[in-house]
Amino acid sequence: ENMSPISIPPPKCLQKPMVIPHRHMFGPGPSNVPARILEAGAKPVIGHMHPEIFEIMNDIKSGIQYMFQTQNKMTLAVSGTGHTAMECAIFNAVEPGDSVLVAVNGIWGERAADMAERIGVNPIGARVNTIVAPPGGYLTNADIEKALSKHRPVLFFLTHGESSTGVLHPMDGIGELCHKYNCLFLVDSVASIGGAPLCMDQQGIDILYTGSQKVLNAPPGTAPISFSERACEKTFNRKTKPVSFFLDLSWLANYWGCDDKSSRVYHHTGPVTAFYTLRESLAVLAEEGLENSWIRHQNVAEYFHASLENMGLKLFVKEKHARLPTVTTIIAPHGYDWKEITGYIMKTHNLEISGGLGPSVGLVLRVGLMGCNSSKANVDMVLVALKDALKHCHKSKV
Ligand code: PMP
Repeated sequence: ENMSPISIPPPKCLQKPMVIPHRHMFGPGPSNVPARILEAGAKPVIGHMHPEIFEIMNDIKSGIQYMFQTQNKMTLAVSGTGHTAMECAIFNAVEPGDSVLVAVNGIWGERAADMAERIGVNPIGARVNTIVAPPGGYLTNADIEKALSKHRPVLFFLTHGESSTGVLHPMDGIGELCHKYNCLFLVDSVASIGGAPLCMDQQGIDILYTGSQKVLNAPPGTAPISFSERACEKTFNRKTKPVSFFLDLSWLANYWGCDDKSSRVYHHTGPVTAFYTLRESLAVLAEEGLENSWIRHQNVAEYFHASLENMGLKLFVKEKHARLPTVTTIIAPHGYDWKEITGYIMKTHNLEISGGLGPSVGLVLRVGLMGCNSSKANVDMVLVALKDALKHCHKSKV
């Protein structure tokens, strides 16, 4: 009789080799990872508390300070994706009962509001106060000031690059408005940083975060974040502990050498391979220079947008200055099924573009050209694929 405790056999699927296709990653993320960054990830794994890793983490910190244009000491990368940084920002800055205001101009505001509601903010009804912009539009400073003076929030959330609608939100004067009402200004730059101008210190941003897999062209899994003095003051004078141990800023600050303690203690095992790739991606950005990168993304986007309009397609964001240079939203071509278009392009051209997300589902096609993917040659490739899809996909007569 078989007395083996093993009743689940080794899975057959794991005997097959893993095959990953090369693919043009022109959706809203992740973007393609260049060989130089992939190779950085193939370096040996060493201890997450070894001095060489601390040095890499310090380099990452400097790279983020450059990318964000900030002198904040409290600058680090969270282990996780953009969502992890969102929760890190909100869970540290906000305590139960605090008033929070969220600008909703797409899905990211909706999600930020959901996260804040989980803490139990705004005691009456525990709902987060929101100001909502129409999809494809944005809020004026007058809208924002009205809401700030009404709700007196401790934190105001705004998405700089709304990847679900393709809107680049104007930023001028919002930091000053927040500070006038004694409110922290939290900005999501996951889809925009490096590809569109944003300067944390100059623009009065108190908490800024991004992800690794968009303009930076690193694999997903780390999320740069920075806290101003003002944000640290609020965070470190809380009456209650943040709801997350993993994202507790006092722990993260120590692991990243951002506090005044002379030694770092174990908090969690840092994803060292992801640190190598993040460091390399920041080195690539520093080599090109932020301003050169902004200009390149802007030029490529303008070329793309003009070409789309020449084809007879319409852009979802009407005002040119509010078009995100990294992620373009095209109004779903009339008479077509958008899923057939994205499916056809994936199958025939080995190229990812995507449909809408949240409030833009069914309304748009989204094309992301971020970091190394932002080039006129790639625009031409997308245009060929789109023209081919419009010729071959089913078009209804109605
Ligand atoms: N914010 C914005 C603006 C985004 O585009 C994304 C990713 N599409 C996120 C947040 C969430 O990032 P992640 O998928 O890395 O968790």
